[in-house]
Amino acid sequence: MSTTATKTAETNAYDVALENFDLAANALELDDNLRAMIKYPERELAVSVPVRMDTGKVIRFQGYRVQHSTMRGPAKGGIRFHPNVTIDEVKALATWMTWKCAVVNIPYGGGKGGITCNPKEMSMGELERMTRRYASAILPIIGPEKDIPAPDVYTTPQIMAWIMDTYSMMKGYPVTGVVTGKPISIGGSLGRNEATARGCFYTTRASLVHLNIPLPQARVVVQGFGNAGSIAATLFHEAGAKVIAVSDTRGCIFNAKGLDMPAVVAFKAKTGSVAGFPGADRITPEALLALDCEVLIPAALENAITEENAHAVRAKIVSEAANGPVTPEADRILDSKGIFLIPDILCNAGGVTVSYFEWVQDENHLFWDENDVNAKLEKIMVRSFNDVLKIHTDKKVNMRLAANMLGVGRVAEACRIRGLYP
Ligand code: GLU
Repeated sequence: MSTTATKTAETNAYDVALENFDLAANALELDDNLRAMIKYPERELAVSVPVRMDTGKVIRFQGYRVQHSTMRGPAKGGIRFHPNVTIDEVKALATWMTWKCAVVNIPYGGGKGGITCNPKEMSMGELERMTRRYASAILPIIGPEKDIPAPDVYTTPQIMAWIMDTYSMMKGYPVTGVVTGKPISIGGSLGRNEATARGCFYTTRASLVHLNIPLPQARVVVQGFGNAGSIAATLFHEAGAKVIAVSDTRGCIFNAKGLDMPAVVAFKAKTGSVAGFPGADRITPEALLALDCEVLIPAALENAITEENAHAVRAKIVSEAANGPVTPEADRILDSKGIFLIPDILCNAGGVTVSYFEWVQDENHLFWDENDVNAKLEKIMVRSFNDVLKIHTDKKVNMRLAANMLGVGRVAEACRIRGLYP
């Protein structure tokens, strides 16, 4: 996001990931030997990705795949195509995937990949060649039983299809379970596209119940209008809440009476942005975060809420649909203001949960209907929310620490029982 670019450069996401691990490990009184075994990424791969552009010129992109943990199962996590991708960002995102999969108790470790590039400036042909070359470069370390990529910021089902095809061509037979978030026609799961937003909706709805706020009275503000943000806004609108503001990289729109979400989605599909939507006023990104509302959903990138703007937040609930949108300093400020936070590794875990369902369906060659997928997702999200809430109330720790304690604790237990090789 344009407004967060400076803070993104200043706050290192991997430092944040390490700091939050230490807080959880301390609260769990984890022994030092276990800490040494689970804290750091198991494997980091940096790859060079040369691509012939449409002009004929070859441009070389930097790519990464990090496997933070395979303690509880194969590494799992998305691939990000974004100009700000760095090795530290990928390491942070991979670390968060480990705790996230453990929080929802699915049998995966954590991983993440990325390419430093600007996909908005690339043609479909260039994107396809870059994706296939990157897939070949990380091929030795991925696979359905080793590490399973998925979509993340600016990566799509089509990009997953190219990865699946590249991997399958190299193997000589179709391997659908090598990636999730694929198109339905090649082994994708119904409900996967909406799953991150749906998980955010379920955990936010549970938080509203916890705080005694009726959903129809909730005013919702969404920062970021990609897969997670746009679908979350739509789900809240459909459930009868009032979505009063949304934003994307080009602008923020506000209507105190509530935005007509299907119309906003259609407007963005036509024009490429929510900015300029006729049924709303334009506001600044700072004003959006400071709106009087019940639910604020940061659904863009890391470091959206920092020590500089956290004081201005007036929401009752902050639902982290993005990964790492609130810095540790901002956490402390939101905490002191009594704001209820649904941490990313819980709030946005719906995506990886339905990725797990997709992988299970691929491996079994047996597919479920959408109601089945959504019902199973709801069950896992509600159970996980209650697990985290219980630690929050029993141990009197904030929701971030509670979620990290649950995730880190489960990985530590797997590590303890497996022991140290050799
Ligand atoms: N990129 C998503 C996340 O951060 C989904 C990962 C997945 O489905 O593996 O959770």
